[in-house]
Amino acid sequence: MKVGFIGVGNMGGPMCRNIVKRSNHQVTVFDLNPAAVKACTDLGATAAKSLADVTKGADLVMTSLPMPRDVEAVALGDGGILANISKGQTYIDLSTNAPSMVKKVGAAMAAKGIAMLDAPVSGGTVGAEAATIAIMVGGDKKVFEDALPVLQSFSANVIHMGGLGAGTVAKLVNNMLSFCNMAALVEGMMLGTTYGLDADKLLHVIANSSGNSNAVKNLSLRALQGKYSPPSFALDLAYKDLHLALELGDELGVPLAQGASTHNLQRMARGMGFGPDDSSSILRVYESVLKHKIKA
Ligand code: NAD
Repeated sequence: MKVGFIGVGNMGGPMCRNIVKRSNHQVTVFDLNPAAVKACTDLGATAAKSLADVTKGADLVMTSLPMPRDVEAVALGDGGILANISKGQTYIDLSTNAPSMVKKVGAAMAAKGIAMLDAPVSGGTVGAEAATIAIMVGGDKKVFEDALPVLQSFSANVIHMGGLGAGTVAKLVNNMLSFCNMAALVEGMMLGTTYGLDADKLLHVIANSSGNSNAVKNLSLRALQGKYSPPSFALDLAYKDLHLALELGDELGVPLAQGASTHNLQRMARGMGFGPDDSSSILRVYESVLKHKIKA
């Protein structure tokens, strides 16, 4: 198949490179950042000069972009995907998008006879490199099945969740849990180490006890080693995801008390200027208030 890949940053980059490395699909790539493009063309992808160039002739056009407004601009803006895509091609958004934006873009594509899948991913940059990420997909089942060979070339775990938007909702639920786990872990670590417990021993206990979660690994690999920048997953993006989950909660009348309190912690970390840094920067809010560093 011919694949047009738009947005080859922290996540899109390794996903795109895995298609090149692990399959025979032909990949054309477009990004505003030339270094990100080069990391893909070095492995055999072809560089496109424009959105028109990357869209025309591709069986699947994929985006992995930061914010819903970026997806809107690239998909629906002047000279964007919609303006250049033709019947028979499929558009797949791998970004963590707003369910309302997924529906808006999907409706615009459908009006031109173009099928769309929302296919956000989970597993971080490590999972994207290793092709172990999960992809949760919304959209028509037949379109999903046709796209599977390409999706499986960069993911070990592709799940069809339901109609258009269902993938995005699954992703927002997952990320809300992941951020709440991180906030709870940071709080627990500050409590234990302020008492005087050894941070490594405490982490070991948590990792092997009922308080364990993926956050333990993430905190150990990033924040506790002072590795906030460049981010693996930027706080600004995490804040966006949780904001979208809270919006959905309000829309559906589901009170998200834990999510809201974690969002406030992220808000404080952004207020301290850590938005572009790793999302584990929420630890720095506690360290600053308590004037006590866990490590590093
Ligand atoms: P990123 O900022 O590293 O990458 C985004 C890329 O898009 C950049 O290379 C940027 O130059 C490019 N871009 C932006 N606007 C563009 C445009 N108009 N045209 C062409 N290229 C453009 O972000 P990321 O961390 O890779 O995240 C991408 C998406 O994946 C986000 O929606 C994020 O929420 C989601 N996500 C991220 C992670 C993670 O761990 N980083 C995990 C799961 C999902």
